[in-house]
Amino acid sequence: MIRVAVNGYGTIGRRVADAIMQQDDMFVVGIAKTSPDYIARLASKKYRIFVPDRKNLKEFEEKGLAAEGTIDNMIDEAEIVVDATPEGIGEKNIESYRKKGIKAVFQGGEDAAIAQASFNAYANFDSALGKDYVRVVSCNTTGLARTTSVLRDAIGISRIYATLVRRATDQNDSKKGPINAVEPSLSFPSHHGPDLQTVLGKIPVDTVAVKVPTTLMHVHVINVEMKKEVDSRKILDLFAAKRRIFVTSGKDGKSSTAQLMDYAREIGRARGDLYEIAVWEESVKASGNRLNYVQAVHQESDVVPENVDAIRAMLELSDREDSIARTDRFLGIKGGMH
Ligand code: NAD
Repeated sequence: MIRVAVNGYGTIGRRVADAIMQQDDMFVVGIAKTSPDYIARLASKKYRIFVPDRKNLKEFEEKGLAAEGTIDNMIDEAEIVVDATPEGIGEKNIESYRKKGIKAVFQGGEDAAIAQASFNAYANFDSALGKDYVRVVSCNTTGLARTTSVLRDAIGISRIYATLVRRATDQNDSKKGPINAVEPSLSFPSHHGPDLQTVLGKIPVDTVAVKVPTTLMHVHVINVEMKKEVDSRKILDLFAAKRRIFVTSGKDGKSSTAQLMDYAREIGRARGDLYEIAVWEESVKASGNRLNYVQAVHQESDVVPENVDAIRAMLELSDREDSIARTDRFLGIKGGMH
């Protein structure tokens, strides 16, 4: 059993911790929290809690929460740490991971330069094999990488154009939004294009990103120049054959991110999570070498299975197919038509 420490227990950290506990080859030795809030209280029922500094121990104790020690103590017990702290903090933490000689998985908010490899299980699993520091790319890049890597591998891609309609913030965040505005990224391409290349290779990618007042999901409008003529039916079959992509349809009422999130709750997913990238069947249209499709990305959870796979790759415990299959089985990810 791999001993994993989870540093940062917010939107991503708490989901990754639970996903690790659902696997049969790894477990969470502890989670690190900075404040003794309701999330810490609920976490204390499942996990051993650690805090940044000894002075935080008293603060937790005063709130009736027993923290077992500091983040350093937690790391001493682990073989690998998942750093799910807010963007930019991982860069500060890496020095202490180096000193302790512990492997670390970082998240997409960190700069690509922090790690020896950026990671997406479909796009470049092998790039993380045996590495000490790996960055799981962001929710948007994960969404783009899932579907485009399938097209790259099956047919070949000459160029990708994508418009990303981004949710303003997450559901539990009342500080950042929702914004009453539409906010375009003013650089071209947006940072997502170069980020996608870190996992997909040197395929030209143009991306534009626009932030909108919603907290549910991102939506991507993707146009791909394929290396060969393509057929819409074949593309749908390719997508439906992959468990981490699900092909959905407006015909039975799932015509927006609101119904997709409702669907995730109805099928009993923990926290209403949708790990899969949802591609709308009606939007998959091929004409000659040109392919168009629209997909929805649940930003809070699509990177969760990727973190689990990154751990196996870094410790060289499984090959790509085996790791993905195990992660999917334990998280109930089945793919297909929904
Ligand atoms: P978050 O703010 O929800 O959670 C971060 C957690 O880390 C919080 O519990 C916070 O209290 C804690 N923390 C803050 N400073 C810390 C420190 N110095 N040491 C330990 N813990 C500390 O953030 P998040 O949304 O989970 O994002 C984490 C990372 O994942 C970022 O790199 C982000 O870009 C990336 N990411 C976020 C999303 C998303 O949609 N939320 C999706 C994919 C990737």
